[in-house]
Amino acid sequence: MIPVHTHFKDQQSGLVDPFGRRIEYVRLSVTDRCNLRCFYCLPKGFRDFETPEHWLSFDEIERVISAFSELGVRRVRLTGGEPLVRKNLPDLISKLSSLPGIDDLSLSTNASLLREHALKLKEAGIDRINVSLDTLKADRFKSVTQGGNLLKVLAGLQAARKAGLNPVKINMVALKGINDDEFEDMVDYCMRNAFTLRFIETMPIGEAGRSGSEHYLDLHRVLERLGKSYDLIPGVMAGGGPAKYFQVKGTDFRIGFITPISQHFCETCNRVRMSVDGTLYLCLGQAHSIALRPLLRDGISDAQLKSVLTDAIRLKPARHEFDEKPGQLNRCMSQTGG
Ligand code: SF4
Repeated sequence: MIPVHTHFKDQQSGLVDPFGRRIEYVRLSVTDRCNLRCFYCLPKGFRDFETPEHWLSFDEIERVISAFSELGVRRVRLTGGEPLVRKNLPDLISKLSSLPGIDDLSLSTNASLLREHALKLKEAGIDRINVSLDTLKADRFKSVTQGGNLLKVLAGLQAARKAGLNPVKINMVALKGINDDEFEDMVDYCMRNAFTLRFIETMPIGEAGRSGSEHYLDLHRVLERLGKSYDLIPGVMAGGGPAKYFQVKGTDFRIGFITPISQHFCETCNRVRMSVDGTLYLCLGQAHSIALRPLLRDGISDAQLKSVLTDAIRLKPARHEFDEKPGQLNRCMSQTGG
């Protein structure tokens, strides 16, 4: 447990880790539960979800994000599991969107519940969303998500557009032997709908993640392949993420590539993650973490909380070790959100 200190000087210079990286982005998992079971994320029959009494309340989450915002964090992404299964989520969004300093509030979702929620999310303060979608084939979708309904996701995406959520970014995990025959179809679908497409490499996070890594595909190969069908020029896109973007010449359409394995981006890492039970994870690919919930429930002051967060950033590791230690992480992706 990190002892509580009273170093206030650090707070002026924001959150800078031992490698000189400024931490300005928190990925906030508001639930570890999900209504889908993507095979590379949640193991079949997984039941070990966090118990509700351990979930941080919206007030506790607001306290932590407020402390982070006073330390220079300005981006927050709501994730899960599937964040839309958390009841009254727009109430939390309203709280966070009114915090001074937070100027980018976004959400990641599987979109299967989005048709019902899109407008409420927009009204509460979400501007842009990322949607996980690995296939446009209904039977394959059902298989990859172990039971999901693709039509609900496609309807959710149209509802997002109608509600004015923009941009809508599609995250497609590249899976060798599963969806690598439809990358061009996904490009065309996203181009037709003015969605931004990003391909993501699998990561050996947890048992399911390791089974997903059996379908690992180096995205440099995908870029080469797409370069034969589309005139791709290096492009840029706003956002705090690690994606490297290419634009299809003569269009506004962008394709992003997120390559944690073939070309990691740890040297420019700007983020930390907090799970639903208030555990602060310093790196997606490492176990370094501190438990904030006991401190919050023991009545820690705002000043002490800021010191704890400042001290915690000193623990942030340089990078993941997915190659060197593929078996080290036993938590599943839905516990921290991607
Ligand atoms: S693996 Fe860790 S250090 Fe690398 S980008 Fe992700 S969170 Fe940052």
